[in-house]
Amino acid sequence: MTRKRIVVAGLGDVGVLTAIRLSRHADVVGISAKPALVSGQELGVRLSRPADWARDYWIPFDRFRRLDGVRKVQATLSGVDLGARTVVGRDVDGAPITERYDALVIATGVTNGFWRRPTLQSAAEIGAGLRAAHARLAEARSVIVVGGGAAAVSSAANLATTWPDKRIDLYFPGARALPAYHPRTWRRIQGRLTRLGVGLHPGHRADLPAGFAGEEITAEPVRWTTGQPETSADAVLWAVGRVRPNTDWLPPELLDERGFVRVTPELRVPGRPGVFAVGDVAATDPLRSSARNRGDALVAHNVRAEFSGRPLRGYRAPGRRWGSLLGIQPDGLEVFLPTGQAFRLPPWSVERVVMPGIVRWGMYRGVRRNDPLR
Ligand SMILES: Cc1cc2nc3c(=O)[nH]c(=O)nc-3n(C[C@H](O)[C@H](O)[C@H](O)COP(=O)(O)OP(=O)(O)OC[C@H]3O[C@@H](n4cnc5c(N)ncnc54)[C@H](O)[C@@H]3O)c2cc1C
Repeated sequence: MTRKRIVVAGLGDVGVLTAIRLSRHADVVGISAKPALVSGQELGVRLSRPADWARDYWIPFDRFRRLDGVRKVQATLSGVDLGARTVVGRDVDGAPITERYDALVIATGVTNGFWRRPTLQSAAEIGAGLRAAHARLAEARSVIVVGGGAAAVSSAANLATTWPDKRIDLYFPGARALPAYHPRTWRRIQGRLTRLGVGLHPGHRADLPAGFAGEEITAEPVRWTTGQPETSADAVLWAVGRVRPNTDWLPPELLDERGFVRVTPELRVPGRPGVFAVGDVAATDPLRSSARNRGDALVAHNVRAEFSGRPLRGYRAPGRRWGSLLGIQPDGLEVFLPTGQAFRLPPWSVERVVMPGIVRWGMYRGVRRNDPLR
């Protein structure tokens, strides 16, 4: 039997893991706008300690041992022919590419703020972007963080930890931040932010200029639609969660009303055998949570099961968000469960067990030395 060919569209957090899992079972082609995994996770660490962040979240594809057998194509996808089973796009030189598939895994994620954009970038451009955002915040004496989700909270906490002399204020629309998490999670984080001297400002909804979704750090005063006087700081960081799915390369009949890819619980695109979607782009549940709940394992299993006529498994989403909120800190890594309980892994265990053993070997099946910003 000829080997099947699987195209993984988008090699971000979940695409890389999916390609790794499938690499020994088929000819896998990974197509992505970046030459590396450039994760959307841990914005706060990325902005305040970019070299630390880069070691774990900006990983060139040649660092992953199990991607050696995967053909990586750096290109922007622009279309799919579902009948002919091909995807098309343009590579870094602007030349057209066409790739045939037996199975297609759509994992092109979302665009969010200035830190998650599906633009074609070289390693030098990725590094320059990380350094520029860090420098912009380093020189500011006061920073406003706008937003109430994980990216905003993590940014406020990490900026205050790295630069205790700056004035950091967090403005969010609700009575509490982190509405998608258990209330206990916010209570714990609130205590930490207060101890760090972060000013907390509930009930503030920012007036976003038309068409602006926080693509840059600004310096103009922020106006509030909730009635408070406008507020100024040297730098304004927008983490307002205006995510846009990276699906303009897909036909509209595959998408829901908000532009995310419609999927069955098995992560299949309905009525399109061989086509799957996973991660932030897949409309699995209101939080679109398959990336952080082992969607890579599920989709890899189901692609292989469909090839061999075995039963497929279904996705079950937890009702609440969970995970690390602040990233690795000097006092270790705190992980919040969907129940609001938290446990802290001490720094020695993160450095010697969690990152090398659980993440680099267990999850990625081997990562070569990586320190792209040092
Ligand atoms: C193991 C793991 C742990 C996690 N832990 C947490 C946690 O603790 N807390 C938390 O909140 N979240 C966590 N997350 C989830 C995280 O917040 C996001 O859900 C995750 O980053 C989404 O990954 P993605 O692959 O769907 O999207 P992305 O990582 O954004 O990947 C999409 C990729 O596709 C590329 N692309 C887009 N469009 C095109 C195109 N047209 N052509 C070519 N390439 C394109 C992009 O450039 C990008 O590289 C975790 C995720 C994982 C995998």
